[in-house]
Amino acid sequence: MSAPFWSSEPDELLRVGPDFRLRSVDPGSKPGTDADREAGRAELARASEELRELQQKLFAQSRTGARDRLLVVLQAMDAAGKGGIVNHVFGALEPYGLALAAFKAPSAEEREHDFLWRVEPRVPGPGVIGVFDRSHYEDVIVQRVRSLAPPEEIERRYEAIAEFERRIADDGVRIVKIMLHISPEEQAERLLARLDEPEKHWKYDPGDVDERLRWAEYMEAFQAAIDRTNAPHAPWFVVPADAKWYARVAVQRIVLSELHGIDPRWPAGDFDPEEQRSRVERTLDLRWP
Ligand code: ATP
Ligand code: MG
Repeated sequence: MSAPFWSSEPDELLRVGPDFRLRSVDPGSKPGTDADREAGRAELARASEELRELQQKLFAQSRTGARDRLLVVLQAMDAAGKGGIVNHVFGALEPYGLALAAFKAPSAEEREHDFLWRVEPRVPGPGVIGVFDRSHYEDVIVQRVRSLAPPEEIERRYEAIAEFERRIADDGVRIVKIMLHISPEEQAERLLARLDEPEKHWKYDPGDVDERLRWAEYMEAFQAAIDRTNAPHAPWFVVPADAKWYARVAVQRIVLSELHGIDPRWPAGDFDPEEQRSRVERTLDLRWP
């Protein structure tokens, strides 16, 4: 019998608490496990089964009126691995119970509305796991760093986000906000790796270097967003992400733990199975002529 993969729960270790300092989180660390990459891959595959069953139950129980759903918000610097999380953690789920929304720079139409206008319709419906690849947090992160909105508007947005998240939480949305935290050194390696291979050039964005140059301002904006919007009903988690395999299993475990918290149940049918069995049996000789 091998040692358990997790020696302590990443859900607790990575959850942002009072007096949180982003500065104190080492992006290269792997809190909660001493395992290696190979063991990490095995754990990811094992826990995918567990995740899938919970997802099926969540979806099934919504058919009988349960309003529970999960919203996972992913925020990170470029090349931190959001795409890998979507593919490797959420890619194992059933498409019907999954809703992925990627938020890019707002279009001209979107800019005519309040920043939450484009976000509200993407909140997952009952039974669904929603994943935001970037989110309304860009409106207080990149927009703050790039002065795309005046300071008083950014200030207003923290409050608006808190109210918005409170409101959807009251309607059955369990919210989990995750920052994938990479080091600037690791980001440089990933950008160079993208340049090394022509098949990865489509992933390379020259603009990423401009954002990279503002690293300190981005970290301040992340810290402020976390400070202003961390709440028991909408907690932040900061996941060290220099090791991709670690970030994936850690995110998966956080999601699993939230789903266990919802504790979805297979709904009972509103029919008598014996009565229905005999109905089906009476039709066994049916043919399509
Ligand atoms: P990839 O990892 O594939 O590059 P990505 O999330 O970086 O994925 P891109 O299309 O490269 O996707 O970039 C999206 C861009 O949109 C980011 O630079 C992000 O800062 C920007 N963006 C997203 N939301 C907003 C917003 N509300 N205001 C301004 N910019 C935004
Ligand atoms: Mg990009």
